[in-house]
Amino acid sequence: MKKIALVTGVTGQDGSYLTELLLEKGYKVHGLLRRSTVPIEKRIKFDIKLLSEIELHFGDITDPLSLNSIIREVRPTEIYNLAANTFVPGSWEAPKYTMETVALPIMYIADAVRAAKLDTKIYQASTSEMFSGDKGEAPQNEKTPMRPNNPYGIAKLYAHNMAIHYRDAFGMFICCGILFNHESERRGENFVTRKITLGLARIYNKQDHKIHLGNLYSARDWGYAKEYVDCMWRMMQRPKPDDYIIGTGEMHSVAEFCEYAFNLIGVDWKDFIVQDPRFLRPKDVQYLRADASKAKRILKWKPEVKFKELVEKMVFNDLELLKTNNELNL
Ligand code: GDP
Repeated sequence: MKKIALVTGVTGQDGSYLTELLLEKGYKVHGLLRRSTVPIEKRIKFDIKLLSEIELHFGDITDPLSLNSIIREVRPTEIYNLAANTFVPGSWEAPKYTMETVALPIMYIADAVRAAKLDTKIYQASTSEMFSGDKGEAPQNEKTPMRPNNPYGIAKLYAHNMAIHYRDAFGMFICCGILFNHESERRGENFVTRKITLGLARIYNKQDHKIHLGNLYSARDWGYAKEYVDCMWRMMQRPKPDDYIIGTGEMHSVAEFCEYAFNLIGVDWKDFIVQDPRFLRPKDVQYLRADASKAKRILKWKPEVKFKELVEKMVFNDLELLKTNNELNL
């Protein structure tokens, strides 16, 4: 029988790669999305040709009634809960909204599955932002203490614990993927990597002179999003549900990202980057580096795209994008 997947956050970077992967694997894919005046074609990041192959449902992850009725109608084999506003600074601007969109929905989903007496497997998108990022604690593994430094991480930690609680208390199949930063040509333009590669493309095309950034010395374990959705799927195929750290094991600073990106166009990054206090955070997460040995051992997963290749993919994509779209109308 054809497997049925329901993906929340289907319009996002991960949702788009996951949708493509699940379709390749022969799933019937349903996506949940909010109503908006922006046409769907402009909101999705996956290949437009795939739009006719998936079924979209209008609803909202903050509304348990809407989740409940969609889950009852679709009766999914697997649910991937990817929806969230994942931009950390936004979580200080709207902490209550962050709690509503990030912390609570997994509870509504798990509850709806339980109430409908389904044996749906659930994937919860957990994050490295649940860690403090203190120097002595990197690399982080599944046992590293979780002490988040921002409302987004705090909300994600609530969801993570709630997912584990539903698994333990009710015997549900729920996996949490603790994914470290993962980027791609589809990354949102506010995240530092994409901000740099888009800014670089504008500078190269003489549309801009500088990129204004905040903390240049925080360090991240940046991987390639397309490879990370494969891990989500692998976790869900295991005989037992569990939680896994996903990352490359390499750590680089924001400054190193800038340096390597600008090297690719043969100029010195220091001539184009301005440190701007507007982009500093009230509290930053300094060092994130994944110890993904458990995922490698059990899921037989290994990241292929490392730092340099990732930067190259993003830089060359944005240079090309700008060549064809003068205004970078994303
Ligand atoms: P995050 O790790 O999920 O918060 O991903 P981001 O890409 O938003 O940020 C990664 C790191 O880059 C954080 O430590 C930020 O403080 C740092 N950073 C430095 N300048 C900027 C900037 O202008 N925008 C963003 N988003 N992050 C910046």
